[in-house]
Amino acid sequence: MHRALQWSPADEGAAKCSLCNHRCMIRKGKTGICGVRENRDGILYATTYGRVSAEAVDPIEKKPLYHFLPGTLSYSLGSIGCNFHCEHCQNWHISRSERDPGGLPHLPPEEGVRRARASGCSSISWTYNEPTIWHEYTLAMGDLARKASLSTVYVTNGYITEEALRELSPMLQAYRVDIKAFSEEFYKKVCGARLQPVLDSAVLARELGMHIEVVNLVIPGLNDSPEETGALVKWIVENLGESTPVHFTRFHPEYHMQDRGVTPPSVLEKIYRQARDLGLRFPYLGNVFPHPFENTYCPRCGALCIERRGFSAAFRNCSGHACTKCGETIEYVDTPG
Ligand code: SF4
Repeated sequence: MHRALQWSPADEGAAKCSLCNHRCMIRKGKTGICGVRENRDGILYATTYGRVSAEAVDPIEKKPLYHFLPGTLSYSLGSIGCNFHCEHCQNWHISRSERDPGGLPHLPPEEGVRRARASGCSSISWTYNEPTIWHEYTLAMGDLARKASLSTVYVTNGYITEEALRELSPMLQAYRVDIKAFSEEFYKKVCGARLQPVLDSAVLARELGMHIEVVNLVIPGLNDSPEETGALVKWIVENLGESTPVHFTRFHPEYHMQDRGVTPPSVLEKIYRQARDLGLRFPYLGNVFPHPFENTYCPRCGALCIERRGFSAAFRNCSGHACTKCGETIEYVDTPG
């Protein structure tokens, strides 16, 4: 088993984990809230190191990342466990899995990088379940990936601590973070966590030079009021920047949240327009394809710059990071590695 990083010994053989903001105190023989960091005789181990539950070659648009290497493929990996307990989890079969990680296929970091390159990918994404709790493995693979000129992506709930994010920063380039709601009450009730650490990690990721895109899953009756979405957009514009791509995505009943229907497209369209009015340059809608608000439009003249159909992306009136109609800068990352 792989010895964990980001922890310190405590009284009576306990281990204090500093990987995410739960900061679990883990007694001998126990695991933390995520279920995958285990104290064995006073030493903390990462039980899922190298253990893979899902492997796929995905369009980067599926993460979703719309302004990071658009039109490329990303070698995508996930394991099991999660440090959140969201009632509406879409990947509950792996995030809440009680399988023994030792029974999952083992993929050494070197082999992951080799497969990413062999499959024509420009990046590696740690996704499907929460990558924060896969810290040691993603760190090892990410270092190798960067040496092989591959980019690196976290699809995360953003609950990572400052010290762990700083440790990742030399290798991590894209931080696709969920801001699930703009209310502490929602985070406490629905996810078993807190909002503020998520906001803090997003600000830090930006300071550390990572590319950031935000996903906000709009759930009818829970986080869809104009006041809440307006406050979220204002916070993003002020703290992450007006050019931060933000994906407002449609909810489908999942897992333990079956008491409400899908988000009506009209609600999402209203939020999109509100976000634009509040100064966000690149809002998007998700899980509604096909829809014109999946496309990138020039924030100044409205020209279609990147057209999306499903998970494909095609450049239209955009060349060299500029709108060809009016010359406005269209910010996106286009160089892997
Ligand atoms: S990663 Fe988070 S949930 Fe898991 S043991 Fe560490 S502090 Fe607890």
